[in-house]
Amino acid sequence: MITRKEFIESRDKAAQMIRQAGIIINGHEIEEMDVADFGLNNLAVEGGQMLTFFNTSRVSAKVIALFPGQTLPEHWHTALGEDPGKEETIRMVWGKLYFCQEGPDTLKMAKIPKGKDKYYTVRHERTILPGNQLTIKPGIKHWFQAGQEGAVLFSFSSSARDALDPFTDDTIVRVTEIIDE
Ligand code: ZN
Repeated sequence: MITRKEFIESRDKAAQMIRQAGIIINGHEIEEMDVADFGLNNLAVEGGQMLTFFNTSRVSAKVIALFPGQTLPEHWHTALGEDPGKEETIRMVWGKLYFCQEGPDTLKMAKIPKGKDKYYTVRHERTILPGNQLTIKPGIKHWFQAGQEGAVLFSFSSSARDALDPFTDDTIVRVTEIIDE
């Protein structure tokens, strides 16, 4: 959970990063931004700020802002009925991203959050810079971490049902609880 104050501060900071990256976003989109702490109560370390442009039954587009060193925990996009699972292309706009997925261990730059080794099992790392993009196939485990200045990236995908995606850390709760003090 995060507090209302933490939610608003993080949301506004993320909006500022997105705008500084040159992406035009609207007030109502900022209002609806998802500030996710994944139920881990440590937003600065494991979390993410996701602003959705649209998410229809077929396609989805978002912009993700990550604070310096912030990590989006390991997960994969699972199949549902006829749908083999979300296929997603991320494209870097600003900053630096350390992206890990299944493959030979090349982990070098990203730092696995303290005490969380068992929840970060895929360690084939690539550094993604502005203008770089990569496609994540359905079912492939992945996680990523912003570099020391943070990161702003687009996410283009088939329909997103993020609330259903499994995480390696089974203590994760995808829907953020915001508490009013
Ligand atoms: Zn993903």
